[in-house]
Amino acid sequence: MRLTWLFLLLTPLGAQQYDLVIRNGRVIDPESGLDAIRHLGISAGRIEAVSAAPLDGRATIDATGLVVAPGFIDLHSHGQDAENYRYKAMDGVTTALEMEVGVADVDAWYDKRKSQTLINYGASIGHIPVRMRVMHDPGAFLPTGDAAHRAATDAEIAECRRQIEHGLARGAIGVGMGPHYTPAASRWEILEMFRAAAHSGAACFVHLRNAGDESVAALEEVIAASALTGAPVHVAHITSNGLRSTPRLLRMIAEARARKLDISTELYPYTAAMSAIESALFDPGWQSVLGIGYHDLQWAETGERLTAESFARYRRTGGGVILHMIPPSALDAAIASPFVMIASDGGLRNGKGHPRSSGTFARVLGRYVRETGALSLIDAIRKMSLMPAERLQQRVPAMRNKGRIREGADADLTLFDPATVTDASTYEDPARYSIGIRYVLVNGAPVVKDGKLQDVTPGRPVRAPIE
Ligand SMILES: [Zn+2]
Repeated sequence: MRLTWLFLLLTPLGAQQYDLVIRNGRVIDPESGLDAIRHLGISAGRIEAVSAAPLDGRATIDATGLVVAPGFIDLHSHGQDAENYRYKAMDGVTTALEMEVGVADVDAWYDKRKSQTLINYGASIGHIPVRMRVMHDPGAFLPTGDAAHRAATDAEIAECRRQIEHGLARGAIGVGMGPHYTPAASRWEILEMFRAAAHSGAACFVHLRNAGDESVAALEEVIAASALTGAPVHVAHITSNGLRSTPRLLRMIAEARARKLDISTELYPYTAAMSAIESALFDPGWQSVLGIGYHDLQWAETGERLTAESFARYRRTGGGVILHMIPPSALDAAIASPFVMIASDGGLRNGKGHPRSSGTFARVLGRYVRETGALSLIDAIRKMSLMPAERLQQRVPAMRNKGRIREGADADLTLFDPATVTDASTYEDPARYSIGIRYVLVNGAPVVKDGKLQDVTPGRPVRAPIE
């Protein structure tokens, strides 16, 4: 009797009214396999109904002809400011996470973004910035001094581990590390950071110690560390470390997974990488490790190709450099692999940088789904939403409500036109919004509406429980 009353009070016209209804879209949910025309009812930032019958809303979006996908989750997003969040949103990304390099001060990082962001954000506690702080390195984003080139004392390793554990206690969502940028960090030091991660049930997000032919040993290092400690491991951008050895790395990861180790990886869909020219990546010997020469380097600020002279000059001043070095065959092998996710590794500064910063997700849909057919639409969406959510949900239970379209899930949604969606950014002009992303919702609020950015701040922190 009382239930009937409640029902009548809530539904005076016999039908519930939602804050927002997305009408008539092709709804694709990679978790359930749903791929059908549906209506979504959204209230208070959550998906409340997924319905074959029409729904009633105070506002509506007509999604006829559009795909309705879970918002894309970028696990590897260095650009964590208003400029970058705009390009992310226009590329369909609703959550951007800095997992590989990470941050040194977790509280300060989250406090700075509170109630101020277009999209959801989060970060790991990073061994690289922690080592820079402990060893007083003068570098800006990546180390250039002792944190790159000096072996740590036992006391310094203990202090790094203590700071990693503190960051995890403050809700960091993983542990970032990159021994390629801290080559003086011993295998024991890396193992200590894995132990810290394992203690909190966090995964390690690693830029491997080496590249090309040497990447096989570098991958063995983190597989061994994961096996010894129990910390899951996620290998950043497998193609840019693996280069021509990428198929071998994929095989090793498949073998480790068959042995029940928790290992995953990612790629960005480009044949060029980007890094800081002053970093340890360009210590003597880089040409033979990476299999490239000066002319394969492109200065991001101007687009010029480098020479021995300009390389030496820019290495002294520092800055971003694009490395044309990833074999297309490496990309083709990795993108087809079922355990490879999509992540951008992007970051623009004043409109300069790598086109992956603004175009990664639309490029996968345009080039690898529509043009070459390398991926089915639902598999591409899975790699860009569900898989990154699953990677994090053990440590961050809130991620169980992202990367899915079902009742109770967060209303982080990306609506795109499958016939036109594609990237527009280039190496010469990376600051160009993707095409065909029509609507993007973050916690139920449109941040992109009819293809245009909105001036709103519905982004929320993605953070592990604070101990
Ligand atoms: Zn990296």
